[in-house]
Amino acid sequence: MKRYNPIMSNRSIGLDETLHQYLLTHGVREPEVLRRLREETARLPEAVMQIAPEEGQFLNLLVRLTGARRIIEVGTFTGYSSIAMALAVPEGGLVLCCDLSHHWTAIARRYWQEAGVEDRIDLRLAPARATLDLLVAEGWDDFDMAFIDADKENYLHYYEACLKLLRPGGLIVVDNTLWDGAVADPENHEPSTEAIRAFNERVYNDERVDLSMIPVADGLTLLRKRP
Ligand code: CA
Repeated sequence: MKRYNPIMSNRSIGLDETLHQYLLTHGVREPEVLRRLREETARLPEAVMQIAPEEGQFLNLLVRLTGARRIIEVGTFTGYSSIAMALAVPEGGLVLCCDLSHHWTAIARRYWQEAGVEDRIDLRLAPARATLDLLVAEGWDDFDMAFIDADKENYLHYYEACLKLLRPGGLIVVDNTLWDGAVADPENHEPSTEAIRAFNERVYNDERVDLSMIPVADGLTLLRKRP
C-alpha cells in the first residue's frame, strides 16, 4: 500500500475543552438511561474504559444507517456501547456481548433491563477469544456489524475472527486506535501501544476491507468487509 503523503493537507479539527463541551451540548442527544449509566460508571476506578457519549451516539447512528440486525460486541464493560447499539437494532435483532467480568456486566444487566433491550442481548461471559473461536467453529457468517473495544493485545485476533463472522459488506468498528496519541509517539513501547500500532498497520494494508479512521473520542476505525 503506497502511504499517503501528508504534506499540504487539510486536517481534522482539534478539540480543546471549550469546543468539546460545545460538541457535547449541541451534538449529543443522550437517552436518560445512558446518562444514568454513565454517572454510575463514573464512580468506578475503571470509568475511563467507558466509551464517550458522542461515540455511543455515533455507534447508534451506524446501526441505523447500515440496518444492522446482528451485532457482536467484544468488550462490554458496564454496557454503555451495547445499549447505544441495541436501542437502534430492529425488533428480533441481536447484540452478542463478550466480556469476562461478572461485576461489570451485573451493572450492564440492570441497565439492559431499564433500557428495555435485554431481549436483544446475548451475554457470553468468557474470554472473548474463546467465544469468537466457538462462533467461527459453529459456522456463523451472517453478522452485520462488530464493535471491538477490549484488551488491545488481542485486537488482531478479534479482528480476524470478526471478519470471518461478518457477512460481505458488514462493518467492523474498532475503538482506541489513536490510543491517546501514543501510537504516534516513537518513544512509547507499551505492549498495548505496540499492539494497536500492529493492528493499525495490518488493517491499513488489508485489501479485504475498506477503511476509515475517525478521530472521534480516542480514535475509531471503521472497516467494511469487501464482498
Ligand atoms: Ca475503549
